[in-house]
Amino acid sequence: MAAARILVADDDAAVLQSIGWLLAENGYEIAHASTGAECLALLEERRPDLLLLDILLPDAVGYDLLETIKGDARWHDLPVLMLSSLPPEDASVRALGLGAVDFVRKPYRPKELVARVQAHLRHGAMFRATRDALERTEAALQRAQDDAESRRQLVDILHEVTGDLSVSELYQLLVGRAARALGVSHCSVVLSHTGARTATVVAAVENPKITSLEVSLDKYPELQAALDTGQPVLVEDIATHPLYEGVRQVWGLEGTEVNIRSVIALPFTVDRGAYGVFLVRRTRDQQPLGPADLEFAEAVITAAVAVIQRARMVEHTMADNARLEQLAQTDPLTQLLNRRALAENITAEMERALRYDSSLALLMIDLDHFKMVNDTYGHLIGDDVLRDMASLLRDLVRENDLVARYGGEEFVILLPETDDAGADGFAERVRSAVKEKPFASRPGERAIALTASIGVATFPAARIESVEDLFARADAALYRAKADGRDRVRR
Ligand code: GH3
Ligand code: MG
Ligand code: MG
Repeated sequence: MAAARILVADDDAAVLQSIGWLLAENGYEIAHASTGAECLALLEERRPDLLLLDILLPDAVGYDLLETIKGDARWHDLPVLMLSSLPPEDASVRALGLGAVDFVRKPYRPKELVARVQAHLRHGAMFRATRDALERTEAALQRAQDDAESRRQLVDILHEVTGDLSVSELYQLLVGRAARALGVSHCSVVLSHTGARTATVVAAVENPKITSLEVSLDKYPELQAALDTGQPVLVEDIATHPLYEGVRQVWGLEGTEVNIRSVIALPFTVDRGAYGVFLVRRTRDQQPLGPADLEFAEAVITAAVAVIQRARMVEHTMADNARLEQLAQTDPLTQLLNRRALAENITAEMERALRYDSSLALLMIDLDHFKMVNDTYGHLIGDDVLRDMASLLRDLVRENDLVARYGGEEFVILLPETDDAGADGFAERVRSAVKEKPFASRPGERAIALTASIGVATFPAARIESVEDLFARADAALYRAKADGRDRVRR
């Protein structure tokens, strides 16, 4: 497959170069633009699969450029990732409102940037495929049916569906719409897997309470046939159709009366190995379903399936974003908050302390002579010790306290609603817990004994006006704890 093409537009040559290098390293074909005009020219010339756009370009503010691009039918579906060092709230909300798919803050994190680019390229391709399927379907429908009313109803199916619906709500909506468009009393969506003996009805217009009803495929030969062959199945009358031979015998023995006359089963692919069937039925008191109905049903259902796939894609994108957000906030070794997440939380907590006239405490905790652990036992055991330390701290704190890994063997705990005395008492508990903790060692060897030095600072306090001041105060206290002999708390 040809490499995906990415256009990077940024006026900062250093950023252009580093992002270009990073993405090229990951196998993408890169083009650079350093002005808005250049960006538009390259969009035309290079036809990129994704655009990374800086919000402040010299000749065009990024938002205006974004608006221009999104207003042009040629680029309407191009995924645009905005890049910026502006405050994230304003910038991201505006960018997303104008049609960007995502927002990445500078300084960017290479892994996160690559992961987001990959995700959006994937979704971009799916989106285009879905849109193409919709266009094909509409064309097919045009040919299949000249009935203006039916077309209007199909268009309704496509328009009513928005990204706000979950996939399960969507199934409900679609069976209702499809039943109306097709003029049938029974319409359901059934899901199954390759080789399964059962299937699950996830929505049925004839019974809105059904969201997950397991049925045996033995009793639904048309479902079985549609799943086995991947082809649509039309049964004009189940009283005479050979597919129903076996089932009719069972009904005869049981004395079951069946009022369904005609059935259409239309299979569709949900995912690899997962299949769905739209099941459309009419009762004896209605017109039988025929080949023309099958053709029309196929057009309606193809459109519906494209819509389902789009909804699934939106759900996946949201899940991906949640995962990336999580990734961006945690330290990979210990799963504690990382430095950046900590900084964001501290600003908010300091504001809160001022507003509600409460206080907060910051503890800076540094393991003593940690280098010795690495030198004696190696880095892998050193990493185990750091994970042990993380779980020790997590166990000690209350629910609203925050624990972060600040650097190598340095940890920070933020205690909201805590005054000087409370902070000193807590720091002392941490110090003695570390001293008593048997840390991970090589298998079969004695546990490692360690101590920690702790610097404490509280807020509000004289001459502390910013997050930096608070950290500087805790850092100075930590330095004194080390200088006074380690294994102690200083404020
Ligand atoms: P002090 O009592 O003065 O704090 O001495 P120290 O040895 O703890 O401090 P120093 O800052 O000299 O060394 C910290 C060590 O932490 C050095 C570095 O190899 C180690 N370190 C930092 N990050 C990691 C990590 O992720 N894993 C491991 N295993 N070691 C790390
Ligand atoms: Mg240390
Ligand atoms: Mg240190």
